[in-house]
Amino acid sequence: MSTARTPFIAGNWKMNLDHLQSIAFVQKLAWTLRDAKLDTKAVEVAVFPPFTDLRSVQTLVGSDDLPIAFGGQDLSRFDSGAYTGEISGAFLKGLDCRYVLIGHSERREYHGETDADCAEKVAAAIRHGLIPVLCVGETAEDLERHGASAIPVKQLREALGPVQRGQELVVAYEPVWAIGSGQPATPQQAQDVAVTLRGELAELLGDETGAATRILYGGSVKSSNIASFMREPDIDGALVGGASLQLDEFASIVQFQK
Ligand code: PGA
Repeated sequence: MSTARTPFIAGNWKMNLDHLQSIAFVQKLAWTLRDAKLDTKAVEVAVFPPFTDLRSVQTLVGSDDLPIAFGGQDLSRFDSGAYTGEISGAFLKGLDCRYVLIGHSERREYHGETDADCAEKVAAAIRHGLIPVLCVGETAEDLERHGASAIPVKQLREALGPVQRGQELVVAYEPVWAIGSGQPATPQQAQDVAVTLRGELAELLGDETGAATRILYGGSVKSSNIASFMREPDIDGALVGGASLQLDEFASIVQFQK
């Protein structure tokens, strides 16, 4: 297992862009990155479209051999059966998804997802050969009561129960108060939590996995602040929401300069 951590910039589209818009966006993003001669070995780019866009994105990425990975925004903890409205990890894998987001704060808030649910979803992702992108983060109230790290650490510990040493996964630290608020954490705040999470990963999964796991920061990332986060030693990339829907902004974030 290599411990080199390739920077990873991921766009979480949330419930935006339909299947036609997704084709136009991914095509333009690929052209922009090609024109800019992006070194795709130096940074990995991924998008997380709505489920209904995944087939379109797969066809485009596959037929044009675009340097863009993609994944689902959620998955079912079950593999198949009578679970109306759910999407199996097997279906995501069948569409060539590489990643899947798990435990985004909007899933936790609006769908009541618990840490136990996240643990089952992490296990399901791994069963289907998907790389889990586990989202953790504290609310403003948690921050006041417990400090920044306590809740993310608890969420990490509880969700990673089923994970074996050596398993590839990504952790996204997203303070809930910074998501969509225009008020990001400071790079130092994000680094402090990232280093704590990396210590937990090492304890849970071994030093090598701790050192190899990419930790992203998310919450009001823009082209004007990405470099300051990427300069921090334990932050390996960003999970970008709003700014991932603006082509020029997202392309600039991908081309961050430390
Ligand atoms: P934001 O969202 O970049 O719009 O703050 C981040 C996220 O929810 O992943």
